[in-house]
Amino acid sequence: MKNKSILRVIFVVLILGTYSVSCRQTHADSGEQSRISSLSAGQEDTSVKVKSAGREKASVPEILSRKQIPVLCYHRIRPWTASDGRIARDNVIHPGLFKAHMRTLSDSGYHSILPDQLLDHLEYGDALPDKPVIITFDDGSIGQYDVGVPTLESQGFRGVFFIMTIATGRKGYMSATQLREMSDRGHLIASHTWDHHSVLEYDSAAWKVQLSGSVQTLEGITGKPVRYFAYPFGLWSPVSFPYLRASGMRGAFILATKRDSTDPLMTLRRINVPGYWNEKTMLQNLKRSFR
Ligand SMILES: [Zn+2]
Repeated sequence: MKNKSILRVIFVVLILGTYSVSCRQTHADSGEQSRISSLSAGQEDTSVKVKSAGREKASVPEILSRKQIPVLCYHRIRPWTASDGRIARDNVIHPGLFKAHMRTLSDSGYHSILPDQLLDHLEYGDALPDKPVIITFDDGSIGQYDVGVPTLESQGFRGVFFIMTIATGRKGYMSATQLREMSDRGHLIASHTWDHHSVLEYDSAAWKVQLSGSVQTLEGITGKPVRYFAYPFGLWSPVSFPYLRASGMRGAFILATKRDSTDPLMTLRRINVPGYWNEKTMLQNLKRSFR
């Protein structure tokens, strides 16, 4: 296992030494993307099934053929203020409406699952509960603790909290103690970088600070390994994949853009839920985006 990790790191260093990571492409830049994808994909053989811990891992085509599981993304949970413009309202949901969303999911028969269940399903075909959904929260603002956690728990749900660690303990954000408590209660704490810069801007030193640094901080807080990542602004590039895998990430979440065809686990789709979707609209969009 240790040897495998070392080999993986060496491989990543080789790739990144050859191909500068100053690449500023986005997911829309598909020609360049597929070229780099095929390079970075080499560390995890995507064309054949591989054995892992005695179990047969699904190939990429198999993973892509499985039904997508809905993943919701919320940001701030608080009332709108007069200064909240349209863009802010994409990321701010009233506590009452958030509660209605969760009640509606529960009344419609949805069961929240955590990313390990999703990955076990995608990679090994493990069964999931009926109508699975993953409920995620980005950035780490305080309403997620004050309103989000008790609301989730009142419906028997567990959430996934992607934290930008620079803000932990700051005014308006959750503290380390609160994150620890949430983790102890069965919610998942995961990385959303150190200071929320887009990964498209990182060189290898920045990856160290933004990913390894944030993962270390969070692992120190929760006492559990961090295996999941959410790209700031949902912006990603295949150049990111080797860094993410070398840091032990099992999966990485984007927003509603198309998955990468060679590494769907590093581009797990979510939909952002704006604060102006009522519960019916939320449910319609969830069904439409993940059919
Ligand atoms: Zn964010």
